[in-house]
Amino acid sequence: MDKVKGKELEDSLTFKWRNAWEVIDENERKKVFQVNEEYKEFLDKGKTEREAAKEIIRIAEENGFVSLDEIIEKKIKPKAGSKIYANNKDKSVVLFILGEEKLEKGMNIIGSHLDSPRLDLKQFPLYQEEGLALLKTHYYGGIKKYQWVTLPLALHGVVINKDGEKINVVIGEEENDPVFFITDLLPHLAKDQMAKTMAEGITGEGLNVLIGSIPYKDDEIKEKVKLNILKILNDKYGITEEDFTTAEFEVVPAGKSRDVGIDRSMVGGYGQDDRVCAFTSLKAILDVEVPKKTAVALFVDKEEIGSLGNTSMESKFFENVVSELINLTEENYSELIVKRALANSQVLSADTVAGFDPNYPEVLDKRNSPYIGKGLVLVKYTGARGKSGSNDANSEYIAKIRKIFNDNNVVWQMGELGKVDQGGGGTIAYILANYGMDVVDCGVCLLSVHAPYEIASKVDVYMAIKGYKAFYMA
Ligand code: MN
Ligand code: MN
Repeated sequence: MDKVKGKELEDSLTFKWRNAWEVIDENERKKVFQVNEEYKEFLDKGKTEREAAKEIIRIAEENGFVSLDEIIEKKIKPKAGSKIYANNKDKSVVLFILGEEKLEKGMNIIGSHLDSPRLDLKQFPLYQEEGLALLKTHYYGGIKKYQWVTLPLALHGVVINKDGEKINVVIGEEENDPVFFITDLLPHLAKDQMAKTMAEGITGEGLNVLIGSIPYKDDEIKEKVKLNILKILNDKYGITEEDFTTAEFEVVPAGKSRDVGIDRSMVGGYGQDDRVCAFTSLKAILDVEVPKKTAVALFVDKEEIGSLGNTSMESKFFENVVSELINLTEENYSELIVKRALANSQVLSADTVAGFDPNYPEVLDKRNSPYIGKGLVLVKYTGARGKSGSNDANSEYIAKIRKIFNDNNVVWQMGELGKVDQGGGGTIAYILANYGMDVVDCGVCLLSVHAPYEIASKVDVYMAIKGYKAFYMA
């Protein structure tokens, strides 16, 4: 008798996070696999912030979003259900679906970032050394340098030539394209290298990309291999060496994202931090008709290097766009209405977090770590060394989100990044919180975050879409 009572008590008082695969039915399982085919395509089409922004705008336009510039130019009066987007220098984008309520009442915002760790070419990158041509790089964001040697690399970027024309370059993604490569030392001669720490074994100045080895046939020329590379680039793209100074080239892992696992339960691919949240929030907003509050999907740049610069969250871009919308929708524009619209908003800061990794249990608190496959992750606080630098969301707001997720059968979990003294990180959450908005971090957990190849669970991708949509509709 007591045993039955104990079990009842346990069921009613204790709590366990659920594995989303065990919760969903056959119908939802089908949807999980379907939507992840789209997700992989999104990852493959948007390997840089520029490419991801372009793809988001393409999809948004296909779904009836009109650019803010066009709305202002044609003096269109937006109304509830109007779909509007604004493009910030081709690197960050924001989508709005105007709600039934006035903007002044606040917006439901999901904010993710489009930039990912990578190697950028320096502004004078090309050189020849002993018959080989190489490119100097300067890494972007938090990378483990040793992960970037001996893997096929692709070059993505734009060049602005002397006439001001913008030339798009992508080399290394088509099946027949050549790829690029950073060499590593053979083990036979690596005695000194192997004695170094992993942080020092490969250096930043050592991340030089091999780009060619055939000399230009002319005995008068000193750097023949370099000249031959410049000739090929000039023949194909019309660019010269000086044009590198006005180029933005990013070196990223070559190739497409793939299914991982014999059960195909996971996606492996580059740049899932944070394009997994970009994709899922995009999918969610595309499914919204006329929300009560204005729905906003915000995709920013430069998060990985501290959210500075005019395409980052710290820039005034978003605030300025909200001002434009208030100017379009209100009889009498005032800054006070803008301030109210921002302060009354609620935000999911959509970013990735490390999932529990059985290979590294020593750095993760397994009672508070998120797990891949257990759904969308709410992160109350980020930061490092005593929550330093963290937004630390209010319980009142988290309770609201908890109810939205539970009411809509969203499988979710609470998680934090690693053990207390191991380090930490940050997101764009605190920047939006400065307006007085309610903000909580809410995203997908990954394995191997910031590696050239990151892993996400397909069911988490699905739950993120479901959770984000429920948030927009609430
Ligand atoms: Mn991130
Ligand atoms: Mn990151």
